[in-house]
Amino acid sequence: MEDTLLITSKKMNKYPELINLLTKKPLNFNNNIISIDEIANNYKLIEQEINYHFDKIIKPIQNHTDNICIITSDNINSTFENVDGLITNLKGVALAISLADCQGILLYDPIKKVIGNIHSGWKGTFNKIIVKAINIMIDIYGSNPKDIIVYITPSIGKCCFEVDEELKNKFMINYHDIDNLISLGEIKDGKQKYYIDLLEINIKNLIDLGISRENIDVADICTKCNSNKFHSYRAEKEKSGRNISIICMK
Ligand SMILES: [Zn+2]
Repeated sequence: MEDTLLITSKKMNKYPELINLLTKKPLNFNNNIISIDEIANNYKLIEQEINYHFDKIIKPIQNHTDNICIITSDNINSTFENVDGLITNLKGVALAISLADCQGILLYDPIKKVIGNIHSGWKGTFNKIIVKAINIMIDIYGSNPKDIIVYITPSIGKCCFEVDEELKNKFMINYHDIDNLISLGEIKDGKQKYYIDLLEINIKNLIDLGISRENIDVADICTKCNSNKFHSYRAEKEKSGRNISIICMK
């Protein structure tokens, strides 16, 4: 399904029991700009679009951490603060993550019936939040990495993720073999800039964990280059809205 409000993963759409989506403009979920009522209404618009009513929507208060919470019937009514990843095996529960250039990484194990939604911006990618998430699925739910289906939403591309030498060097300490995922940029104010391919870094993280490349669906749409369709922090700065990614088992 591709329409004006949502983008979804072809690979995940093969599972009729699964809902997966990323919202597009004009929908906006930035609660610094948009009222609570308007956000609630935007969730209703999603439900109308997909013709499904979520029993519960869990949206953590994100902070570019590598903290992941497992949602159970015991903690489902809690507030999740400083959390950037959600995993659950509960049906009817929508795991929601807000995004503007960061990767939303949706995870589904159709055998163990477990879902995850991970916020991986440059900080989350630097701290390997996706590795932590997959290991939770393996350790807690007994997932076999070969069974896990992954969708990486539209996010900032290597065309636009420009960094300075210091951050490039930090990445090269945390990741040992990503030379081919870093390219030389311009010299600005006497300083050499670089471009880092965050998308390929996370694909590599997933493959290193045993996930099949054919099970990784990558939207491969740069949100900054396509800021007419998606909210983009790098394109719109502080006034940028937020897209929301959702995964839910019916
Ligand atoms: Zn771009």
